[in-house]
Amino acid sequence: MSSDCPFCGIVAGEIPGRIVHETDTVTAFLDANPLAPGHTLVVPNDHYERLDDLSEELARDIFAALHQLTPAVESAVDADGTTVAFNNGSTAGQEVPHVHGHAIPRFADDGGAPIHVVAGDRPDLTDDELDRTAADIRDAR
Ligand code: 5GP
Ligand code: ZN
Repeated sequence: MSSDCPFCGIVAGEIPGRIVHETDTVTAFLDANPLAPGHTLVVPNDHYERLDDLSEELARDIFAALHQLTPAVESAVDADGTTVAFNNGSTAGQEVPHVHGHAIPRFADDGGAPIHVVAGDRPDLTDDELDRTAADIRDAR
């Protein structure tokens, strides 16, 4: 537990949170400043900052919770779809340094956008560059 982390505080019951799901390893609660009704966060109960800090098992648990909660959240707020995303690292917009998956309900004509807009200008990559990048990712696993 990190003493100045709001999500550790919610998991520990020291900070109020509208908890919607709890297991031995993960907790889900409503976002305090929601982007849409039903905006839900799924966190590991232990403090890890980034996705690559998680064990494979804990990563599975987080995704399993998102998988279970997404239809429940949609049903609760009568949403038409959901954007599920992680801001992984401060450059990606992560403000709370405790891994959290966002489940953001989406509604027809909600004025939002698809995830394609988050990264700024699209690079113009050649086939060779794409091949090299794919190989580099395979090698780095
Ligand atoms: P990030 O930008 O780190 O991916 O998103 C952090 C999210 O956590 C934001 O959507 C913000 O509204 C939410 N948040 C920050 N502090 C608290 C808190 O104390 N309680 C709850 N429930 N949500 C919080
Ligand atoms: Zn924490």
